[in-house]
Amino acid sequence: MFRGLNAKALNFIAFAALRTSLCTKFTVDSLTQFVLGAALAEATIGHRVGRLAALMGGIVATLPDLDVFVPFGDPVSDFTYHRSATHSLLLLTLAAPLVAWLITRFKQSWRDDFKPWLLTVWLVLITHPLLDSLTVYGTQLLWPLSEHPFAVGSIFIIDPLYTLPLLGAVITAQLMRRTERGAS
Ligand SMILES: [Zn+2]
Repeated sequence: MFRGLNAKALNFIAFAALRTSLCTKFTVDSLTQFVLGAALAEATIGHRVGRLAALMGGIVATLPDLDVFVPFGDPVSDFTYHRSATHSLLLLTLAAPLVAWLITRFKQSWRDDFKPWLLTVWLVLITHPLLDSLTVYGTQLLWPLSEHPFAVGSIFIIDPLYTLPLLGAVITAQLMRRTERGAS
């Protein structure tokens, strides 16, 4: 029954992540964020937890953009407040232990892996706003200490030249893992 519950919860979270990616405005699209998170999780904890690592990393990577569902009143406010608190390096660092703890509740075998999950979750969470800050739209990386919108403007909101090679790397890693398992 617990397993069934976990599957339902994962399905719900994956659906929410997909919806976020469809609704996200002003940012690097959530598909790109999902793929970066999946790649980071695959590289850091994939060898311990297998294929689910990439899925969990992808889901965690979309969490900062869930604020698109919070109505701030009007389009200007939406634009101003999106990418502030939810994209703060400080707040995301503080949130990482809670997210890592929640993830370790999904599977019994993950409960002893809190520290590696914490490292993975922290990396996935803080790279999200760093990637967003490479677009022309400002990201308040230092909120609440400063509301300065960091914006390098080196990549477009949706950049297939960045996303597709990364997606290829994640898929290759997944296939290699499957091949390794098949051979052993
Ligand atoms: Zn974002």
